[in-house]
Amino acid sequence: MTTGDAAPSDRGPPNRPASPLVTDTPLPFSVLCTKIHDRITAFLEEENVSERVKSVQQQTNSSLSVIAEALERYSLPELSLAYNGGKDCLVLLILYLCALHRKGLSRDAPNTSIETAIQCVYIQAPHPFEEVEAFVTSSVKTYSLSMLEYAKPMKIAFADYLRDTPSVKAIFVGTRRTDPHGEHLKHFDPTDSGWPEFMRIHPVIDWHYADIWTFIRHLNIPYCNLYDLGYTSLGGTTDTHPNPALARQPSTSQVPKVDTPNGTTNGIKAPKFRPAYELMDDYEERLGRDR
Ligand code: FAD
Ligand code: MG
Repeated sequence: MTTGDAAPSDRGPPNRPASPLVTDTPLPFSVLCTKIHDRITAFLEEENVSERVKSVQQQTNSSLSVIAEALERYSLPELSLAYNGGKDCLVLLILYLCALHRKGLSRDAPNTSIETAIQCVYIQAPHPFEEVEAFVTSSVKTYSLSMLEYAKPMKIAFADYLRDTPSVKAIFVGTRRTDPHGEHLKHFDPTDSGWPEFMRIHPVIDWHYADIWTFIRHLNIPYCNLYDLGYTSLGGTTDTHPNPALARQPSTSQVPKVDTPNGTTNGIKAPKFRPAYELMDDYEERLGRDR
């Protein structure tokens, strides 16, 4: 897990909280949700901010309204979240926990009962990244999630998930409009024909790629460290590479360079790709994916 603090020259946005939102030591669930809620409230109250931050403040309010509506329409046992450790569902998870606090649903030890459990489902890619697996595992602990995991194709996995968890009627998904098949989605969409039947809820559908990173960095939310290596969209190890749009240009420095085969220059490790949060264009997000 990383908080993007690696480079001292890049401390992130000016109003960024100094401490990460969460650490490896889990907090009692109600304390965690209060902390998330307070940090989001402080973010929403910030004034004299850039146009980008203003737009993320609006997106945050809109997403919180969608989640609040979901919490009116469905009980906790009827809700789940599709979580694969990626940046989009991470933002969604944080917003969900904030909304639970607002609605008075963030009781301690949520895992002890189906009535209070924060249900999630993770479908393992055929060739998962170790880093993604580790981040999902640490998220389960940090955020007290009740996670079921499947290693099979998505449609079959969701059919199994509904069989294993028959109370679930609706699942939060972190799809955005610029994702494949995202263009025409609404906040609430039943699954397409041929898919197991449930309601899909898309609270972050209108967030742009850069909005996601603005939120994560502004609130100092730890994320999967592959993003710091230039990965911008996470699939499996066989079809995902660092994003070529983030490749570093050769240095024009006057210092004579001695390159070695392991990628070090003058003994200093120079990352070959810039971090994911430096990409701005929605349509360049998947340049590191083969499919
Ligand atoms: P991402 O951008 O990583 O995925 C977008 C979001 O999907 C993530 O934020 C996360 O919430 C969820 N997600 C993606 N991969 C996983 C995973 N391995 N485990 C858990 N959650 C994951 N396609 C259809 O054509 N019709 C449907 O009715 C339909 N219903 C779906 C319902 C759910 C709950 C999910 C998760 C997917 C569904 N899909 C459906 C597939 C969807 O359109 C995407 O193809 C799929 O989510 C992969 O997304 P992506 O490649 O854009 O990756
Ligand atoms: Mg995504």
